[in-house]
Amino acid sequence: MSDMAERARRAARIVEKPGLFKVCEGCESIVIRDANTCPNCHGYRFDEDPQRVIEQAHILGSRPQTSVKPGDLED
Ligand SMILES: [Zn+2]
Repeated sequence: MSDMAERARRAARIVEKPGLFKVCEGCESIVIRDANTCPNCHGYRFDEDPQRVIEQAHILGSRPQTSVKPGDLED
């Protein structure tokens, strides 16, 4: 499966159950609701509004990934 298709699939799953996720205020990635800090930027401020999660899922699912992966930030 292509990277793009995989992202679209994930986005669809998020839109289905937005209550399980939240949006990081630091890097705008979608993380699971249970996460204490963002796996991408280690931020701890989140927007838990389901509507915001849905909007962000659509954005992330419809464009190529441009942000760095978590591993890229480690030394
Ligand atoms: Zn973040």
